[in-house]
Amino acid sequence: MTDHAPAPVATGPSADEVRAALEALRVHDLPTHGGRTLAYVYDSGLADVDTLGRDALAMYGPTNGLDPTAFPSLLQMENDLVAEAGHLLDAPDGFVGSVTSGGTESVVLAVLAARDGAPHVTTPSMVIPSSAHAAFLKAAHLLGVRAVVVDVDPTTLRADPEAMRAAVDGTTVLLAASAPSYAHGVVDPVAEIAAVAAERGIRCHVDACIGGWVLPHLDDVPSWTFAVDGVTSVSVDLHKYAYAPKGVSLLLHRDAVLRRGHFFASADWPGYTMLNSTLQSTKSGGPLAAAWAVVRHIGRDGYAHLARQARAATLDLAGAAAGIEGLAVVAAPDASLLALTTDASCDVYTVADEMLARGWYVQPQMAFRDLPPTLHLTLSAATAPSVPAFLDDLRAAVAAARAAGPVQVDPALAGMLGSLDAGHLDDATFGRLLAAAGLAGEDGALALPQRMAPVNALLDACPPALREAILLGVLDRLSRPSAPAGTTSAP
Ligand SMILES: *Cc1c(COP(=O)(O)O)cnc(C)c1O
Repeated sequence: MTDHAPAPVATGPSADEVRAALEALRVHDLPTHGGRTLAYVYDSGLADVDTLGRDALAMYGPTNGLDPTAFPSLLQMENDLVAEAGHLLDAPDGFVGSVTSGGTESVVLAVLAARDGAPHVTTPSMVIPSSAHAAFLKAAHLLGVRAVVVDVDPTTLRADPEAMRAAVDGTTVLLAASAPSYAHGVVDPVAEIAAVAAERGIRCHVDACIGGWVLPHLDDVPSWTFAVDGVTSVSVDLHKYAYAPKGVSLLLHRDAVLRRGHFFASADWPGYTMLNSTLQSTKSGGPLAAAWAVVRHIGRDGYAHLARQARAATLDLAGAAAGIEGLAVVAAPDASLLALTTDASCDVYTVADEMLARGWYVQPQMAFRDLPPTLHLTLSAATAPSVPAFLDDLRAAVAAARAAGPVQVDPALAGMLGSLDAGHLDDATFGRLLAAAGLAGEDGALALPQRMAPVNALLDACPPALREAILLGVLDRLSRPSAPAGTTSAP
């Protein structure tokens, strides 16, 4: 062997063994396909769409969106996607847009652009409906923009434009509306909210992260796009109803000046001049290329068909669910999301557990202000053919939950929770809480139970700040390095 002979450098298990390990790791994950997971994932039901998305992801995984001149392919695909979204969202001449990593980043950038677009406001705030996605609260936290949260109308669960108007003051830089809201699936009165914004000379962001690729294909939706005067930006996630693999969203602005605040440049260091349109700097071209491929392949008529399929399934499901004893629809759905609640005969957490036992994931949402706890259902096209089977299982799940009765919170635990201070939940106290709740495994690790209803009911009984503190403790305990190599099933 000469010095230059290629040496085998991969010293771990073979590539095939590692691939098998990757497959094996997924056994406890929720299924991403088949339409039985009604949150987190979006399945078109079209096998070639998945294959194409995966191929594009792999093909462009190594590219870097850091510098738009180094990979012109990425810039081209970004501009193509923005153009297609502009068409769907009635964007006027002169509109612009950027591809981001997801809905949260799109919302954060909309808030950043609004903040930096009003430099004369020293303590900026934004007025948002109480149904706005928590991404706005994250933006508030990150960017120092105070969130003024206005209750939605208690019967329609839509934003209340008059109450929002009353909340505007000299510090307001942004009003927000959802199309539709994640939690309840209703579209806010965008025209009225945008009118308030236009009147006051402030911005209005429409968060269409979840609905932006569906609503344009449905009838009878009140105007919510750039067709509405006063709407200055719109966000829409391609990794939701555009059925693209995860990691891609769009933020559109009515004009280039409005966008400028979320661009960033720094020449103030000895390396390359950093020039970013979004929060990420080095970013994989994979999600962008996959979205471009999937959007092109499905096509406008294809999306119209998928949207109507999901919508019809939502209406069928809502109609039938309303007839199930013990269950109620929280608000008539405007798109393809549905929120269900129960009467006092049972609770949503037990229904969720019963559904999981039957192979369906529905997402529990806790009580908030005057709103009851609910089950969130996102219906994608792949769920449509299974609606009758879903309903059979939902009837059985609700019947089982009613037979069991509402889950009871252990009074001793409730007392312990009542004595906790969300601002000072130290690790020792948290450990005692886990132990009392029967959730402490070995070495203080967290051991999640099979049935989540008792835990969820307990969390529901906590005020939001305490729930946040407890869940941050949970996240901290979950996020710990694996045991040393050789002692786990890891490759
Ligand atoms: C999903 C969603 C977001 C956040 O998007 P991520 O992609 O999860 O970051 C924001 N707003 C609405 C209405 C959403 O549905």
